[in-house]
Amino acid sequence: MRWKCPVCGKEFENFGFKEFSQCPKTTLFGNFKKKTVDGEFQIVNRLINKPVCSEECKKRNEDKYFVEEYKGNKIYCVYGVYLPYLECGDWYNSIEDIKEKIDNARMKE
Ligand SMILES: [Zn+2]
Repeated sequence: MRWKCPVCGKEFENFGFKEFSQCPKTTLFGNFKKKTVDGEFQIVNRLINKPVCSEECKKRNEDKYFVEEYKGNKIYCVYGVYLPYLECGDWYNSIEDIKEKIDNARMKE
């Protein structure tokens, strides 16, 4: 299968399951067409666990959204909202809300 790295655009002639399983995965943001179970197309703004060609591309992609590290947790900002990690299902309106959540989670340990 032909494949193109979504971050650097490098093309690969033979990108099979082995290559897929070995390359780093990241979360991509943008407008993507995704096929639903009914075979229809839907526009989604995030794709999770997508392969990129190198650790460098993974870092390059994730650094675009990285805001700051708080008590060992990386906080990201995407589309003007905040995420405690890129795959997170909860979106926060402010960085303080995330910090509060991190603090609360720590107290339960
Ligand atoms: Zn790449």
